[in-house]
Amino acid sequence: MVITNDFQCNVCNSITRIKVQLGWLNNYPVRIKCGNCHISIFGNVSLNPGLSIKLNNVTPLEDMGKPDFLIEVSGELLTDKMSPFTKERNIFFSPFLKNGIHYMGENFEKFTQSTNRFLYNIENDWPTLKRINELWFNGNHTYLPKEIHKLLSKTEFPADNELELLRAVHVLNFLFTNTFADKYFKEISTHIFKEFRNINDSNQLILLAKHFESHLNDFEQKLLGILNKFIEKFHMFIPIYGLDFYSEEKDKEEVMKNLGLTTVDFEDIKDFYIDTFEDIGDILNLVVAYNNLKHRADYKKMKENVIKEILVIEDYMKMRNKGRKLEFINGEESFDKIFVSKVDNRLRNAIGHRSYTYDVITQELTYYPSGENKKGTPERLYLTEFVLECFQLMRSCIGLSEIVYQTRKSIYVSQGMFPRTKEDYYPSSTENNANYYQVKNKKRSTKVKNKKKISKKSRQHNRNR
Ligand SMILES: [Zn+2]
Repeated sequence: MVITNDFQCNVCNSITRIKVQLGWLNNYPVRIKCGNCHISIFGNVSLNPGLSIKLNNVTPLEDMGKPDFLIEVSGELLTDKMSPFTKERNIFFSPFLKNGIHYMGENFEKFTQSTNRFLYNIENDWPTLKRINELWFNGNHTYLPKEIHKLLSKTEFPADNELELLRAVHVLNFLFTNTFADKYFKEISTHIFKEFRNINDSNQLILLAKHFESHLNDFEQKLLGILNKFIEKFHMFIPIYGLDFYSEEKDKEEVMKNLGLTTVDFEDIKDFYIDTFEDIGDILNLVVAYNNLKHRADYKKMKENVIKEILVIEDYMKMRNKGRKLEFINGEESFDKIFVSKVDNRLRNAIGHRSYTYDVITQELTYYPSGENKKGTPERLYLTEFVLECFQLMRSCIGLSEIVYQTRKSIYVSQGMFPRTKEDYYPSSTENNANYYQVKNKKRSTKVKNKKKISKKSRQHNRNR
């Protein structure tokens, strides 16, 4: 359903006809601009309880006026960008039909389900998962096993030594993030695992892990912080998440140029991009060390001729300029694969130094990679493309979490601990089961009855190893 109303700008009095798409989201943010004076019109559409459209800086008109601009807003889908009002433009199909069903076909239903499931998980499961991660960071192993066993079975996850605790925390994080990172995670974890197996010198793997041992806790905390920020902004990402469900890959590029977003403004999201690069700056050390080991058989030996004076990992770790550190990750070496899209220091530099202009109507960002306005050749990017970059950066962080996890595991294994079950990443009962948390909760009552049996079996299982 689409609700159409005219709104008058509180600054310049120009009138914008806003067509609000009501879909399956109970509430969603609105971020648009006045087409004339370019001030922000922002607020919220909510369906529960009852429909409410609250927009700041404009006044809704009782009668339909003579509009100057036309825009459609949607919480779920990409939409036509703002344009001057003409009668012909006024008659258009809803975003639901032309940007939903048209591009996604039968995948539209999957998109709806996945998004709703993740929103449900954010609301209901994230607090528990967050506290489990906190107990892990704080080394609080008194309460941790009990918290883990509220969600995972003791048989598969005994949580009785540090490696088992780590494995359980890791699986719970995976089950939570797999809604938006499943395909990527499978690829990258397989890749990392394969590369680890190919490294003949296991002694070097352990040396590398020990070299970073004192940093791993910091890495884990930073990555969880990034996930937390992403979750807080997830509503803004939904129309871009929808691109995952397009039937034809070739449609995406064109759509991202022609259509716009009304859930997010460039200013809302640019800090996520900059902060994430800041936070992962130190974790790059670990990625580069694995590249050194894979390509130069020594985790300390840096790739030559990237930056002349950076020869060993210690030099790299001391580098203050995080943008320059990215020059070592240009897609040529094996572990660069963790980064879903090219890590772009040019864009980061421009945003960090505010050397860009943003056209609020076309949603196009023009930026100067030099970091100085008007200096050098400008490059261009649409808001849709930028939000996708942020999304891909979040996915890359899931890969970084995986490599941090594998590093910690190497340390525990070197101390004589071994994972109990063969299926290290995907426990048989949980693979592809994104509803795991909910299923688990329902099962809890039955589980209590069988508790005695399970723990007996678990002990036998452990003895057999
Ligand atoms: Zn205005």
